[in-house]
Amino acid sequence: MMPALDKTIADRIAADRGLWQDFNDICDCGGRLAGTDSERKAFALLRERVHAASPANAGRSIPVPYGGWRARRAMLRLGDGTMAACHPLVRTIATPRDGLTAEVVDLGRGTPEEFDAHGRDLEGRIALVRHELMFAAGTIHRRRKYDMARARGAVGFLIAGPLPGELVAGSSGREGGEGIPALGIAPETAARLARRADGWSTASMIIETEESPAETETLVYDYPGRTGDWVVLSAHVDGHDLAESAMDNGTGLAAVLAVTRALAPEVARFRRGLRVMFFSVEEWALTGSAQYVKALSPVDRDRIALNVNLDSVAGSSDLAALTSGYAGVEPFLLDIAAANGQRLRTVRPLMTNSDHANFALGGIPAIRLVAGFDDPAANLRLVLTPDDTRDKVEEADLRRATMLTAAIVAAACEADPAAAATWRRS
Ligand SMILES: [Zn+2]
Repeated sequence: MMPALDKTIADRIAADRGLWQDFNDICDCGGRLAGTDSERKAFALLRERVHAASPANAGRSIPVPYGGWRARRAMLRLGDGTMAACHPLVRTIATPRDGLTAEVVDLGRGTPEEFDAHGRDLEGRIALVRHELMFAAGTIHRRRKYDMARARGAVGFLIAGPLPGELVAGSSGREGGEGIPALGIAPETAARLARRADGWSTASMIIETEESPAETETLVYDYPGRTGDWVVLSAHVDGHDLAESAMDNGTGLAAVLAVTRALAPEVARFRRGLRVMFFSVEEWALTGSAQYVKALSPVDRDRIALNVNLDSVAGSSDLAALTSGYAGVEPFLLDIAAANGQRLRTVRPLMTNSDHANFALGGIPAIRLVAGFDDPAANLRLVLTPDDTRDKVEEADLRRATMLTAAIVAAACEADPAAAATWRRS
């Protein structure tokens, strides 16, 4: 069995008052939608906190060009002429200036079977689907529903949130170029759009957007070890503008900062170095990490032993490691959790729901730590809604996730090369 986390390091994390302070300060920045002042404020805060922890490490900023997007206006009018609240999905395409009016086909959850059964019904109509718990096996991602709607000729896309009276956010799934207008709505609005005896309901969507090339960054801090090999610890900075994106991903950012404070003084004696990475435009189809991994040479990729990506790590006391098909890393993770008295579940399939996916697809063993996986009652169900606020997070859960992360990262930095080689097995 692996040894438990070094007591000095564990004590540092247990006593780190900065963890909860950082989490609250990150939430104070706002929802951190890419391209907003809120996102820039969060980057400035992260710089300041890493600088305070290790003044000698200036870090580096990798520019990340992306398709900038902003919604100027979004409106939804129902067939009876009343207006319903709505939220434009990230990067949705605009409607024609005077809007788009069409009949609405309610596809329920929006499974492939439901889309297939409705076949040609969707041509020229608006598809209505439901947002579902994201952190569960078998989840159908919003992006797939959007693609199915487009493929069947839908002219608009509505997705209803899970909370009574509340909207839902998310990315539209559009990769730039063509697309169909997409709005998040409340469940009550969806109910009013149900088909009736006299026919389909109708709705009018008006979306005005501004699009232009934009640039954000990936912030990187290298703490070298004794060799040229690395363990990458990452979290995404950006979020949505419905709330303060507290669980997703204020929790991951605060945990990365605390682990950095605790490990920075120790890494020089570790076999592998610690590379701390803050990505943005994660909510833009994982753009920041995609560009980073794509730019790595094969040698650089080989030198990264493991990516530990923190995304939504508190909001429930249950933690899971999504191991992205890298079966070989699971015994290592379970061993560390046991040695440190923590419960951890491993989940095998590759899930392209955060930045670890790009590392995994690039041939680098990569895990995502996530809280509340497969638990429909966990607060994580509120991610992407206006209720993703700091009061959904228990400090003790965040500290436990931080402690486990430090244990995993420290052990990964120290693991002997033969052990690390097994992590690359699928
Ligand atoms: Zn996230």
